[in-house]
Amino acid sequence: MQDASAVKTKKLYYENAYENRFTANVVSVSGNDVVLDATAFFPEEGGQEADTGVLAGYPVTDVQIRDGEIHHFLDMPEGHLSAGDAVSGELDWERRFSNMQQHSGEHLFSGIVHRRYGFDNVGFHLSGREVTLDFSGSIPPKDLPEIEAEVNRAITADIETRIRFLDGEEKESTEYRSKLDLSGEVRLVEFPGIDACACCAPHVRRTGEIGLLKVVSMINWKGGVRVSILCGGRALAFLREEHDIVTRSANYLTTSASEIFPQIQRMKEEIAALKSEKAALLKKLLMMQAEAVPADAENAVLFTEEADAKTAREIVNELAARHAGCAAVFIGNDGSGYSYVIGSRNKDVREVCAIFRENFGGKGGGKPEMAQGSVSASKDAILAVLDAE
Ligand SMILES: [Zn+2]
Repeated sequence: MQDASAVKTKKLYYENAYENRFTANVVSVSGNDVVLDATAFFPEEGGQEADTGVLAGYPVTDVQIRDGEIHHFLDMPEGHLSAGDAVSGELDWERRFSNMQQHSGEHLFSGIVHRRYGFDNVGFHLSGREVTLDFSGSIPPKDLPEIEAEVNRAITADIETRIRFLDGEEKESTEYRSKLDLSGEVRLVEFPGIDACACCAPHVRRTGEIGLLKVVSMINWKGGVRVSILCGGRALAFLREEHDIVTRSANYLTTSASEIFPQIQRMKEEIAALKSEKAALLKKLLMMQAEAVPADAENAVLFTEEADAKTAREIVNELAARHAGCAAVFIGNDGSGYSYVIGSRNKDVREVCAIFRENFGGKGGGKPEMAQGSVSASKDAILAVLDAE
């Protein structure tokens, strides 16, 4: 609630959202925190980030409402302004106008969703990074293109924005979104024929100024959905970036844009086939190594650069059946270490794992007849341990 003693700064953005330069008087200063008698800076409110710009020659880094007062935070050394000073301010207009485009676009989108499904916009966030709208119900994904098209038809229709203050009987009898049971007057932002919503933020004069609205994504969110949109220059920048990715990908694949996806699908299938072919060849190679181990050897230890754990276990099982001591497959190289599978039908291989851990670090464990682990050691050092066993 607004404190009765709070400074009621005149909100210039209520009367004219296009007033990007203004003059005002300083009411109070505390450090770099300045309160004015009037301002064109929109404070962070209703999910929208604050305007930035310059005030009295100093950058305005943030504008916040505290206890009902609008506070401007300046990048300014202390003691450079005092109460009673006349100051001039200027908004970062590119940022402010973009925010007006995003916010007005959000109203069109939310109004159309409300009319089609009865869902409420229960969360709005507008920052330099994203514009998100949270709805109380799930919009069917197949409907999104048509909603987007309807918003863009409303943009092309260049509808004049109507902003008025409602109070008393009129407030009670008027239908609009975000109708809260609040005392006092309500600032109603209308796009006649499309939407009417209580809102405190600056908006474009006519919907044509939004330029374009693009839906970027929709995800499930708290029992409803979160829709990301972009309007105006931000929509264009987004589409340009995506188009650039598509063009570069098509050039790289020497194909057309429409062929990128089927080509990627084919490539993915080919990679999967090659991987399984490679695994089969590696297994064949290991089998040949296994067969080359002399039949009378106590231990059978193989080293390979690459193999999957399943193949290694199969080979160890076969070797353990043929040799009385330890059967093992070490996968890797001296430089980056080895992962291993070790087995035996006579010995408790967990003891060998323990010696590896003691001598070389790493980890390892399993059952008496088969264990797995990893070591940071050379082939020679590993063989020396196994020969000693
Ligand atoms: Zn709004």
